[in-house]
Amino acid sequence: MVNTTIKTTKSQEIFAAAQNLMPGGVSSPVRAFKSVGGQPIVFDRVKDAYIWDVDGNQYIDYVGTWGPAICGHAHPEVIAALHEALEKGTSFGAPSVLENVLAEMVIDAVPSIEMVRFVNSGTEACMAVLRLMRAFTNREKIIKFEGCYHGHADMFLVKAGSGVATLGLPDSPGVPKSATMNTLTAPYNDLEAVKALFAENPDEIAGVILEPVVGNAGFITPDTGFLEGLREITREHGALLVFDEVMTGFRIAYGGAQEKFGVTPDLTTLGKVIGGGLPVGAYGGRRDIMSMIAPAGPVYQAGTLSGNPLAMTAGIKTLELLQRPGTYEYLDKITQKLADGLLQIAQETGHPACGGHISAMFGLFFTCGPVHNYEDAKKSDMAKFGRFHRGMLERGVYLAPSQFEAGFTCLAHSEADIDQTLAVAREVLSSL
Ligand SMILES: *Cc1c(COP(=O)(O)O)cnc(C)c1O
Repeated sequence: MVNTTIKTTKSQEIFAAAQNLMPGGVSSPVRAFKSVGGQPIVFDRVKDAYIWDVDGNQYIDYVGTWGPAICGHAHPEVIAALHEALEKGTSFGAPSVLENVLAEMVIDAVPSIEMVRFVNSGTEACMAVLRLMRAFTNREKIIKFEGCYHGHADMFLVKAGSGVATLGLPDSPGVPKSATMNTLTAPYNDLEAVKALFAENPDEIAGVILEPVVGNAGFITPDTGFLEGLREITREHGALLVFDEVMTGFRIAYGGAQEKFGVTPDLTTLGKVIGGGLPVGAYGGRRDIMSMIAPAGPVYQAGTLSGNPLAMTAGIKTLELLQRPGTYEYLDKITQKLADGLLQIAQETGHPACGGHISAMFGLFFTCGPVHNYEDAKKSDMAKFGRFHRGMLERGVYLAPSQFEAGFTCLAHSEADIDQTLAVAREVLSSL
């Protein structure tokens, strides 16, 4: 079962060549394994809950291409639907009925969404929603939370160091101060900090955007009353509440975090699952707000490939599969088994740890916790996580290569996959 001497020669060759061709050898930074050390494996193919690298090694996958593969990789019904759609052409750049179908599914599923606009990524959805928040309220400032990721647009790349929590200092060279000076930040789960920002900036804050369950600072859940509190504060101040459900949408419940927690934002961004593995993002919300988007209204936003028929097809089929009875119950059952198992094994092998899960999203920090925000998450033992990650990888379990990413399960994970993962985790954690 356990193979600790996997050969990854071809992966190493390909990745070495890639580094000369593309910055860091990758198309997106976390893939380079910088925060866990060691070399990434180069994929050859994916199927169900598994991936195979170019050297022929098989892994149980808990990344699921960062979320979209919730039905399992290359689901036969998704592939069949895509084959059929492919015969009709790869891009229309014109209206198609597929957009109506997916739009109706999204509107039916997500409580806040009365109208939706499709884009090509989560980043695009968040950029567009920010413009819309500002246009609708005629205000420029927004509040985001430390550790929450809303794509790589300038205005969201703000690091909130402890002493300069509200200064809006850019996180990356190339981001001008002018792009982030209207981005205010607060610690996650801290309603008082949000209230203070509203008090300090009367009638200037367009809205609050957040991951209703955080996945980009590791897995962090909202404290009881936090989402409700944000709903109340924003309403009181004539500001909008925006849930970035790019990760949580269709994952922690069919209707996302807003269904799960019963808190309805004004606007919502989606991505990942909604494209079923093809590039799709979306934003939507109240009809009066969405009606401001061009060409219905004056707020410009466009896209050559937006509403692409292949992407719509993969999304429609993926959501259809998720609507079948018992899917979320199953996801919750296996994910609970995994998350509880990992915590118990960590405890038995003497490693302080905390973590949890909601439906098909889970996390494990190497700190006794509790973790309420990014500052808490940073107390996790990164070096240990790196060794844990490498040990799991060498034994055929592919985890997200960063402590600050959530883990994902899918409908294709079997109880046997979870059992094997836990057996491997016991071996690795015993050896650390
Ligand atoms: C992944 C993610 C994004 C960005 O989506 P991309 O498709 O990678 O551009 C935005 N917000 C959240 C919460 C995400 O998890």
